[in-house]
Amino acid sequence: MTKLLINTIYRATEGEGIHVGAPQVFIRFQGCAIGCLNCDSKETWEFKQDSAMELTDVVAKVMELSQEGRWPLRRVSITGGDPLHPQHTAGLMELIIELKLLGFWINLEAAGSRIVDDVFKAADYISFDFKTPSTGVRTSLDLLVRFIRDYGHKGQVKAVIADNADFGAAFEARGQVDEKIGPNNMTWVLTPCFNPGEKAPIKRFQEVTKLNEDWGAPFRVIGQQHKWMYGPDAKNV
Ligand code: SF4
Repeated sequence: MTKLLINTIYRATEGEGIHVGAPQVFIRFQGCAIGCLNCDSKETWEFKQDSAMELTDVVAKVMELSQEGRWPLRRVSITGGDPLHPQHTAGLMELIIELKLLGFWINLEAAGSRIVDDVFKAADYISFDFKTPSTGVRTSLDLLVRFIRDYGHKGQVKAVIADNADFGAAFEARGQVDEKIGPNNMTWVLTPCFNPGEKAPIKRFQEVTKLNEDWGAPFRVIGQQHKWMYGPDAKNV
């Protein structure tokens, strides 16, 4: 029997990235070894064995949640934690296959630290992180190039922006990618971050939006709608 380490499975509306506003079922994996400094889901870091769920129970829960409203949901977003950590990937692959057989459209949130081709090929859409300096983690240029070249037709690159240095790093990375693979239609989304304790970082949103406009608008600036709506610390929303 396949078991998966799961933090939560819940129904909510996508709050960030280009699918913002789309209701879906979220499957949040438990376990991440990446260690972003500004992570807002630190409770998902530990690979807790007592969070193990049978694959069949995960699928049943997704089915149940998807049927709760008057209109069945067909979208599932798989996030974490780090669902692409080697401890998760075998089960993740089985999960995607099962959900696809049931007709679900699968978005995968990838931390930008690895590409797992079987999983990326099976998913319908991939949100791939470019880790900016404020995260304390680095996304390799080679990985970014490979993602955009091989999976750019069904994905977005997302970057959290805390300050001008983060914006500059995203701008430089975008230029380096374009130099290597030529002009491309990749959608890069900048997410102005909420710092700990911050309720509404309006000034940061304005600054990032202005920077983007001043630098030729290479990005889409999309905030975290759920944090504006429910507060920065609310979970499962
Ligand atoms: S990859 Fe995601 S869950 Fe892991 S530390 Fe970074 S933000 Fe947190």
